[in-house]
Amino acid sequence: MDPRKTAFDFIVVGGGTAGCVLAARLSEDPDIQVLLLEAGTSTSRLPDAVANPSAWPSLMATAANWGDKTVAQAASGAPVPLPRGRGLGGSSAINAMVFARGHRSSYDSWGDHGAKGWAFEDLLPYFQRSETATSGAPSRGTDGPLTVGPMAEPNDILLACLAGAVETGHRRALDISGGLEEGFAPVDLNIVAGRRQTAADAYLAPALDRPNLHVVTEAVAHRLLFSGDRCTAVEYGADGRTHTATAEREVVLTAGAIGSAQLLLRSGIGPASDLEQARMDVFHSLPGVGRNLHDHPRANLVYRARRPVPTPQGNHGEILGLLRTMPDLDGPDLQLIFIDIPLPNPVAPVDNGFTIGVSPMRPLSRGSLRITSDDPYAAPVLDPDYFAKEQDVRTVLSGIRTARRIARSASLAEWGIEEVSPGLDVVDDQSLGDFAKKYFGSYCHPVGTCAMGEDEASVVDSELRVRGLRGLRVADGSVIPSIPSNNTNATVYAIAERAADLMRRP
Ligand SMILES: Cc1cc2nc3c(=O)[nH]c(=O)nc-3n(C[C@H](O)[C@H](O)[C@H](O)COP(=O)(O)OP(=O)(O)OC[C@H]3O[C@@H](n4cnc5c(N)ncnc54)[C@H](O)[C@@H]3O)c2cc1C
Repeated sequence: MDPRKTAFDFIVVGGGTAGCVLAARLSEDPDIQVLLLEAGTSTSRLPDAVANPSAWPSLMATAANWGDKTVAQAASGAPVPLPRGRGLGGSSAINAMVFARGHRSSYDSWGDHGAKGWAFEDLLPYFQRSETATSGAPSRGTDGPLTVGPMAEPNDILLACLAGAVETGHRRALDISGGLEEGFAPVDLNIVAGRRQTAADAYLAPALDRPNLHVVTEAVAHRLLFSGDRCTAVEYGADGRTHTATAEREVVLTAGAIGSAQLLLRSGIGPASDLEQARMDVFHSLPGVGRNLHDHPRANLVYRARRPVPTPQGNHGEILGLLRTMPDLDGPDLQLIFIDIPLPNPVAPVDNGFTIGVSPMRPLSRGSLRITSDDPYAAPVLDPDYFAKEQDVRTVLSGIRTARRIARSASLAEWGIEEVSPGLDVVDDQSLGDFAKKYFGSYCHPVGTCAMGEDEASVVDSELRVRGLRGLRVADGSVIPSIPSNNTNATVYAIAERAADLMRRP
């Protein structure tokens, strides 16, 4: 980018899943000048392992992950790693590549928070716009930038788990990624010709030659600048210097559930008590910023197998199921995911085996994100307060029992499997609940810190405008008022697609 250029129509802050969509969509109009700021590196400087689907767990130890941890959780007494991506593509460059809409019931409930126009039917055109679904399933997109589909040949151990699920009475779904079904099936993945497709690959790369799109990497947004109540500029650090870029029309925050809330707080926008505690002036009191932080916790059952598990070729988690723990629910509240490696566990090392992940899809527990100062390089204080609500534990217990029934099925018998962790001596609710609360991990789906709605607790309105201010929107995972009942990335793509439409309106 020409370093003398400092004035733009739109500034997009954060080049992750949502930011790549917005930068690409907004710059489709050649008369609109768009600046994208990303704290991490360009695609070519990300680790090679980004492209290799099976290697994604190794990315957690690289600079492509911000490396956040929660505070010690009341449930376990220990902090929990909460990875998020850094670099063009953001979390889509380090995630596990599952591409699935939440079940439709999860969006319909967004209206409970006052959000208007975000029911599943409203979002459907945006889900479709983002994707070219190779399955050709009904309700799926046919010409979007992302090419998504299930593994052509899932790992045999995962197919055996799928057969076990069906054998034990679960529905075999046709398209578990489409938001309309429950049951078990291979899930769509962001893998094209054996390589990961990030948001930067799908959206940004084809737009990079546009003269009206300006991308600055290794640029950390420090704070937002205002003229009265109008956001007019972003101050950011790059090349060891502080820069200011101005936005004639709007600034849109796409720094993710952690980064966007941090940036609002650093700009004096948030709960007055939190800002005062961080010794900061309150520019605009907005009690919901950083509140409502929630995520999917996941407990793992780890199995040893006598028969060798084939070498993983995909993302490890190629098949999953969405289930209701109680028949009177209006949609699924539990996910089981079959994983073709034995994840690290607290009981014993396993050389050859697999894992069944169990995660409550509609957790009730809510926590918070805070900052300690206006230092843009200081780590946030993250407390999702996992398992604060007993209902979330009960959902996991139901999931563990379901997983064990599948593991006992004839379909898995020929693999000679044995449950290593927690182990079959852990049986009663209390012991299983204690296990889940002590040894769970984050499913890495933090959301909710700038929740959308029309009530006092909401940060953005139904058009994603920060309440009480002008020229400023948030359009990423942070605006999700309650987490969808599946992995979150597909939902963030759809939110960003819709945000682009809202912002392009004259
Ligand atoms: C390890 C892992 C595994 C996951 N697995 C899956 C999965 O398999 N399927 C799924 O659906 N979801 C998965 N997710 C979640 C999913 O990837 C996210 O929900 C989604 O990518 C969030 O998109 P976003 O645009 O809100 O934020 P992000 O994609 O995280 O983008 C935020 C961007 O903003 C940048 N940024 C932050 N602060 C600043 C600042 N101050 N200045 C400039 N830039 C800034 C960041 O560097 C980042 O690039 C996973 C996430 C992780 C981390």
